[in-house]
Amino acid sequence: MPIKTSIKRASGWLYLNSPLGRRQLRGSGVILMLHRVLANDRAADLPHRNELCVGPKAFEHLLVWLKKHFDCVPLMDILHPGTQHSERPRVTLTFDDGWRDNAVNAFPLLQKYQVPASIFLSTDFIGSRQRFWWESLGETLWGSHGEQPRMHLIECLQQVGRPLPVLMDDVDVDRRSLTLLHYLQSLKTLAPDDLSRLTDECPEESLPQALDWQQVRALEASGLVRFGPHGASHAILTGLDDQRLNEELSRSRDALLNGCNRPLPVYCYPNGDHDARVRQQVADHAFPYALGTGTGIYRGASDPLALPRFGVSQRTARNPELLSWRIYRGAQP
Ligand SMILES: [Zn+2]
Repeated sequence: MPIKTSIKRASGWLYLNSPLGRRQLRGSGVILMLHRVLANDRAADLPHRNELCVGPKAFEHLLVWLKKHFDCVPLMDILHPGTQHSERPRVTLTFDDGWRDNAVNAFPLLQKYQVPASIFLSTDFIGSRQRFWWESLGETLWGSHGEQPRMHLIECLQQVGRPLPVLMDDVDVDRRSLTLLHYLQSLKTLAPDDLSRLTDECPEESLPQALDWQQVRALEASGLVRFGPHGASHAILTGLDDQRLNEELSRSRDALLNGCNRPLPVYCYPNGDHDARVRQQVADHAFPYALGTGTGIYRGASDPLALPRFGVSQRTARNPELLSWRIYRGAQP
């Protein structure tokens, strides 16, 4: 482990266990952001998956560490704190998008350690076979569905003026995965229609990737998980005109109202993107709170429509002390 990483780990641990750290974190809350929990850790280690995926061993390691240092509470306990009896800082878990693996791989561990969580659904995907473009394109280009679909997609990408970088032929797996990560990030600037056409060129996976409403209700009935909206189509809200923004917000809100017993009064911006117009519309759709992706600690005084979170990657889940270092940095006034 590099010396810098060891120093961060040690300082993070000291901070959480010092009177100063305890004092700074009292009455505030840490909101963590996750996406997927895969079935194996090695798959999650690869750079092009690392940011959005954690493996089951790393996730369990994270939960054990969180239970040791924090009170793990539901999101609404952080937003409506009431009287806090415990001296320990509080943390809550949020998952974006609504991946099926949240029910299959994450939930059994949440249940084992009795850690509450909130899942934010891109509602058009729930109970459908509609796919997220970055996942379909990424895995097809990675070769997860074989060589033929990969070559076909590469041709389609060439046609929209996005040839695959030559480094994707590197023999080193990690370097190849890192190249794919950067390439996928560069595709975010393509028009949504192009992205959805390219997704249609990818092979259909045998199982749906998103949760269905039955799974949503079963998780909700456990009392451990609550749900909120994360867009309907996952369109970036700041890029929509007023009418499409209104449709996107209404459709996702109504889907949650139909599909859940007790949806959260919290919106979660796709990609974390919001501006004054989006925040106003979200408030007008009866959401007093919304989650962004800006880093920081929730202290009650922050803008309730731009709540900060700390992203958890496979690397952080494997080394949660790195998270305490980032919390320490986020706690500095
Ligand atoms: Zn998302």
